[in-house]
Amino acid sequence: MTDDNLVQSTLNKQTDDSSRGKPLPSHAKAVIIGGGVVGCSILFHLSKFGWKDVILLERNELTSGSSWHAAGQIHTISSDPNISRLQSYTIGLYKEIEELSGQSVGLHMTGGFYLASNKTWYDYLKRERSKARYMGLHQEWIDLKEIADRHPLIDPKHYYAALWDDQDGDLDPSGTTYAFAKAARTFGGQYFTHTPVIGTTMRPDGQWEVKTERGTVIAEHVVNCGGLWAREVGHMAGLNFPVQPMEHHYLITDRIDEIANAGRRLPCGIDYEANIYFRQERDGMLLGTYEPVGTPWKVGGTPWEFGHELLPPKLENIADRLELAFERVPALAEAGIKDAINGPFTFGPDGNPMIGPVPGMRNYWCAVGVMAGFCQGGGVGLTLAEWMIDGEPSIDVWAMDVARFGDWATPDWGTVKSTENYERRFVMTFPNETLPKGRLQKTTALYDRLVAKGARMGQGFGLENALWFADGPEDAHEEPTFERNRSHDYVAREVKAVQEAVGGIEIANFAKHEFKGAGARAYLDRILAGYVPKPGRLTLTPMLTPKGRLYGDLTVACLAEDHFMLFGSGAMQEAHRRWFTRDLPADLTYANVSDDWHGIALSGPKSRALLQRITREDVSVEAFKFRDLRQTFVGGVPVILNRISFSGELGYEIYCKPQYLLRLAEAVEEAGADLGYRWYGARALMSMRLEKGWGVWTLEFRPDFNAVESGMDAFINWNKDFVGKAAAEEQRAKGPARKLVTMVIEVDGIDVSGDEAVLQDGAAVGYVSSGGYAHRTGQSMAMGYVATEAATPGTVLSVEILGEMYPATILGAPAYDPNGGNMRG
Ligand SMILES: Cc1cc2nc3c(=O)[nH]c(=O)nc-3n(C[C@H](O)[C@H](O)[C@H](O)COP(=O)(O)OP(=O)(O)OC[C@H]3O[C@@H](n4cnc5c(N)ncnc54)[C@H](O)[C@@H]3O)c2cc1C
Repeated sequence: MTDDNLVQSTLNKQTDDSSRGKPLPSHAKAVIIGGGVVGCSILFHLSKFGWKDVILLERNELTSGSSWHAAGQIHTISSDPNISRLQSYTIGLYKEIEELSGQSVGLHMTGGFYLASNKTWYDYLKRERSKARYMGLHQEWIDLKEIADRHPLIDPKHYYAALWDDQDGDLDPSGTTYAFAKAARTFGGQYFTHTPVIGTTMRPDGQWEVKTERGTVIAEHVVNCGGLWAREVGHMAGLNFPVQPMEHHYLITDRIDEIANAGRRLPCGIDYEANIYFRQERDGMLLGTYEPVGTPWKVGGTPWEFGHELLPPKLENIADRLELAFERVPALAEAGIKDAINGPFTFGPDGNPMIGPVPGMRNYWCAVGVMAGFCQGGGVGLTLAEWMIDGEPSIDVWAMDVARFGDWATPDWGTVKSTENYERRFVMTFPNETLPKGRLQKTTALYDRLVAKGARMGQGFGLENALWFADGPEDAHEEPTFERNRSHDYVAREVKAVQEAVGGIEIANFAKHEFKGAGARAYLDRILAGYVPKPGRLTLTPMLTPKGRLYGDLTVACLAEDHFMLFGSGAMQEAHRRWFTRDLPADLTYANVSDDWHGIALSGPKSRALLQRITREDVSVEAFKFRDLRQTFVGGVPVILNRISFSGELGYEIYCKPQYLLRLAEAVEEAGADLGYRWYGARALMSMRLEKGWGVWTLEFRPDFNAVESGMDAFINWNKDFVGKAAAEEQRAKGPARKLVTMVIEVDGIDVSGDEAVLQDGAAVGYVSSGGYAHRTGQSMAMGYVATEAATPGTVLSVEILGEMYPATILGAPAYDPNGGNMRG
C-alpha cells in the first residue's frame, strides 16, 4: 500500500523494460492495442480465462495515455445497474491482482459519501439506494451529524442527506495498471512496450494483420483499447468511433493540519450540485471537478507524439465550482494549491464505454470511451473476455455495447454529445428528460408537420420521434421531474382518442430486417425460437442466445416463401445486424432496412373504417384477419400493411418508403378528420402496453432474462431445433427463479420510472423494469422481475418510490381487455 497515490502516479511513474528487444511473435490468438488500464485488464482476463497467445502492444510505456494521470478515485454508483455491478466487481478485483502480481495498487478503501445539497438530489440518492437494495450493494444513509464525525473538514450544514458506500476509496492508477499487466503474465499473457501499432488489415482468410515497426503479427482477434488514440486506432480499420478526449482538472492542496493529525485516512466524497469529487491525498486533499462548459481536446485527432505531458491548467474554467467546494469543505479554501492537474481523457456520447464486437466487422473488438477506467476497467475486461471466449457476456451489458450507436453517430456528433456528457457527469438526468445536444441528427418527412402540431420530440437511435402532443409548438414543454408533470393530461387525451376513436403514431423508429433467398425460411427457423409464418402472415417470436438468454422479441412477416421482414427494437438494430450476419448461409441475403421503411400505425375502434377509406384492399374483419399482412396500396402509395397493434386496440401498421410518408400522413389525416383521428406519441403507447402486460426490449426483455422467466416461452415452437433450445429446455424443466409480473401500485401523483426495488416483508425480492400511469384503467402500474415465490397473482408486495413504500398487487391477467377481443375484433 502507498500513502500517496498521486505522487506515486506522476512523479514515480513506473517503467518496465522487460519486453524491450524481445522478438514479437508472428501469430497470436488476440492482439490488444493499448496498455492503459483497460487494455491491461482485458489482457489479464483473457489470459486468466485460458486463452493462450494473447499479446498486448503498447506504443510507449504502459499507462502512456490517460491512465497515469487519473485521480484514482473509485466508486460503485452508475445510472445503469449492470454497470454498477461491474464497478463493484472491479473494486473487488484489486486485492486479487495485487496478490497475483506482487505489485501494489495503492488501494485505500476509505468508504465514501454521496452528498445531496437539495431535495432533488436527495430524491436522486433515494433512487440509488433503492437500486442498491436489490443489487446487494453496500449503501446506507448516514445522519448528517455523522458526516462530520467521519470527515471533520466537511461542513454538514450545506447538506440535505448523505448516502454512504463502504466500497468507495482510491488507488494508485499507475500501480493498478501494472498490477493488471503483471497478473496477466502469471497466466501467460504477454505485453510488449515501445511497439506502436501502425496498421490493422483484414486478410482474405479472415485473420488480422497487425503491423508494427518491429514486424507484423497475424491475429485471429484485434482489440482496440487505444484510449486517447481510440479514434486513430479505429481509422486503421476504417472505423470512426464517436468518442472525444476532454480536458479535466483536479487540484492537490498543500498539507492540511487536520488531515495530517487525523490519525486515519479520511473518506472520499462526491457533491453532485457542486459537481465535485474529493479525497485525501497524502496529508492534503485532492479536489476534482467537471466544468459546466467542457473543453474537447484535439477534436481533429490525438497527436502520436503526445505522451506524458499535462495540459496548462485553466483555473478560470472551474472558478465557480471551486467557490462551491470552498464553501462546503472550508479547509480547501485555506490550504494552498500544490498542484493543478489538467489532463485529457476520452468520453463517449452517453458517458458510458463502447465495448464489444464492432458490427459489420469480423473479430474486431473495442473497449473505447471508458471514462472511469479505475471504476470500470475490471468489469470491462471481464465482459469483453467472456464475450470473446464464450460468444456472449454473462450479464447484459447493453449500456456499454458499441452496437447501441449506428452510422448516425458520426465523429462530429460524438464530439457534441461527449462534451454534453462530460458537462453532465454529476448532473442528474430525470426520467422524462430529453437532452438538448446533438438533436435533429435523423428526422423523418413528418418532423416539421408533427412539431407544428405540438409534438414534444425525443431521440432514439439517432432518430427524432414524438413523445407526446401539446396544443401547439409553444405549448410543447415540460419540466424535468420525478413526479407526474403537465404532459400527463395530454397523454390522457391521446389514449382516449385511441381507445374511443382512432389514433396514429409514427413507426419509423421500429427496426426492420429483410431476409431474401431460398435459404431464408430454414435460417429463420433455426435462429428464431418461435414459429415462422406462412406467406401473408405474421408471428411474434423470441430469439435466444445459445445459453438460452433473450436476444430479441421480433415480429416476423412472410412476404413470400423466400422473402421475410423482421420488425423489432429500433435501439437493437445494429446489435441484431451483428447477430444475423455472423454466420449467414450463402443461400440468403440479409439487410438492415430500418431507414428504408418508415410508416404510421393506426389504432382504435375506428381504425378499420379509416383504413378502408384510403385503400382498395378489402380490410373487413373477414378478409383481413388479425396477424395478416398485405403488400398493397394505402393512401395511394405502396405499402406493407400488417394487422397488428401494440396498443391493445384494433390496429394496423402501415410501412412505406420514406419518400411516400408525407403523402400517407396527409391521406390518414384527411380520412380521419371526421372519425376523431389524433396523432399520439411514445408515452401513450408505453402506457397502453402496460395495461396489456406487454414487455419492451431493453426494459423487460434483455439478455439478463430467459424465455421462461419473461413469459416469452409461450411463443416458442418446442417441436423444432433452434438456437438456444437445449438451454431453454433445461430452464423450463428447472423452473424460473424469478418471473416477469405486472403490478398495480396504490400511489398518487407519482409513478415508477424504472429500477425501483420491489420488497416483501422488508426484503428485496425484485425490481421494477418499467412502469407509469395507465390511462385507460386509471391506475399506476409497473412491470418487473420478482422471485418466483413472491410472484403469485394477488400477492401484495411493496414498491419503493423515492424512499416511500407503496402496496403493489400482482395481476393474473392484463388490466385492460384481458381476452384481447378489441385487438382481434
Ligand atoms: C485528470 C483525470 C482524472 C481522472 N480521474 C479518474 C478517477 O478518479 N477514477 C477513474 O476511474 N478514472 C479517472 N480518470 C479516467 C481514467 O484515467 C480513464 O478512464 C482511463 O485512463 C482510460 O484508460 P484506457 O486504457 O482506456 O486509455 P489510456 O490510458 O489512454 O490508454 C491507452 C493506451 O493505448 C496506447 N496506444 C494508443 N495507440 C496505440 C497504438 N497505435 N499502438 C500501441 N499502443 C497504443 C497508449 O499509448 C496508451 O498507453 C481520470 C482521467 C483524467 C484525465
